[in-house]
Amino acid sequence: MELYKLTIHDLHEMLAKGETTSKAVTEAVINRIKAVDNKVKAYITVNADAAIDRAEHADKDIKAGKANSPVFGVPIAIKDNMCTDGIKTTCASKILGNFIPPYDATVVAKLKQAGYIMPGKTNMDEFAMGSSTENSGFFVTKNPWDLERIPGGSSGGSAAAVAAGECIAALGSDTGGSIRQPAACCGVVGLKPTYGRVSRYGLVAFASSLDQIGPLTKDVTDTAILLNVIAGHDPKDSTSADIAVPDFTKALKKDVKGMKVGIPKEYFIEGMDPEVEKAVRDAVKTLEGLGAKVMEVSLPHTGYAVATYYILATSEASSNLARYDGVKYGFRAQGAKDLLDMYVKSRSQGFGPEVKRRIMLGTYALSAGYYEAYYKKGQQVRTLIKRDFDEAFKQVDVIATPTAPTAAFKIGEKSADPLQMYLSDIFTISVNLAGIPGISIPCGFTKTNLPIGLQLLGRHFHEESIIHAAFAYEQATEWHKKRAKL
Ligand code: GLN
Repeated sequence: MELYKLTIHDLHEMLAKGETTSKAVTEAVINRIKAVDNKVKAYITVNADAAIDRAEHADKDIKAGKANSPVFGVPIAIKDNMCTDGIKTTCASKILGNFIPPYDATVVAKLKQAGYIMPGKTNMDEFAMGSSTENSGFFVTKNPWDLERIPGGSSGGSAAAVAAGECIAALGSDTGGSIRQPAACCGVVGLKPTYGRVSRYGLVAFASSLDQIGPLTKDVTDTAILLNVIAGHDPKDSTSADIAVPDFTKALKKDVKGMKVGIPKEYFIEGMDPEVEKAVRDAVKTLEGLGAKVMEVSLPHTGYAVATYYILATSEASSNLARYDGVKYGFRAQGAKDLLDMYVKSRSQGFGPEVKRRIMLGTYALSAGYYEAYYKKGQQVRTLIKRDFDEAFKQVDVIATPTAPTAAFKIGEKSADPLQMYLSDIFTISVNLAGIPGISIPCGFTKTNLPIGLQLLGRHFHEESIIHAAFAYEQATEWHKKRAKL
């Protein structure tokens, strides 16, 4: 049996029964990375020796009955924007190319506490800015289903690693779709929790009012398991919510009788690939067949979401990224004549073109004279978008939409046209603006064998409802069992 193909819950059972060892699983994952990562390029850093060493310790603990969680001894990859104590954390940026954090992000600390194994740090768009991983400062990750195509972004490395069997599961981060859209492109499950559900402490900030960490997994059960490990209040993150965390695996129920599913009429737009539309409409029929009640809902401010996001996210980014000045972190340019010149040279040489574009956009939107017209207006529209969801959720329990308007596009196809690239996030961005949870699950394939994603959205802090609907759908279909052939 190829152990790298298995899920967290499969492996947990096998480890508990002594049918395999953490070392065997970890070696299988590391060997898989050695065999395919020269093609996929999902990892920035591979942590092979330390991972195998950790696995040997985990096996002793398992034998001694000390395994305290379902991820114990299981290799889970981490996106390279989450701090890992003593292990390089680059954000796929040259400006952090040599940054080794002296501490763990809270999610990493929680995973360590739960006994996970860390096979490595995954590639991404620089500072999580992008939808294709083409903005990585180092190299482009390829889609395991078709190596000429993008894996989505910005958590493209994490999604591709899961799809290629280069880890058992992974963490990503999502500011405007960066977990869900790559999950859709790579045929895996990706969940963005409610804003505040998971601590952002130690996540390198892009847009702090939107960023959220979440799981990328092979199935919905693993998503629930991983969310259980990482969720919860953290005194180190003042935006993390001090509310009880349910056991998300209790939401893994096949029966959706009476569940109300809303279809936003604004989401079936021109420019959407007909194959995507059909797959999503069929998925909704499947849910209906399982007992859900389907009805139309309206999210009238949808058309403003992309513009609002690109004002607010860039404004926050311009402020967050001011700290990279060559003094405190990472890269410092050589040969500067004075302090100002050192700032300018370090930032000019350290940041890539998309990051610079966003810093300029955001600085402009925040500058005196434009602040009211752009930033403040953006905040007001954000409230309207949130209210759209509040209204819709008075009528329905979950909302179903496509995750992205097309399946994975070709590498290079959109990189010359930022606006086209920004439109890839049209269905995911409002969710971050509203702060609600969303999941993407596989719901079919195009004729050219590319995965298609169904997005399910829920009320604030109701991850259970989307996990429930997603699990019911998954169990009624076979899509999640398909694996990319490499
Ligand atoms: N693609 C969006 C962007 O470029 C979202 C990125 C993200 O969620 N981190 O900003």
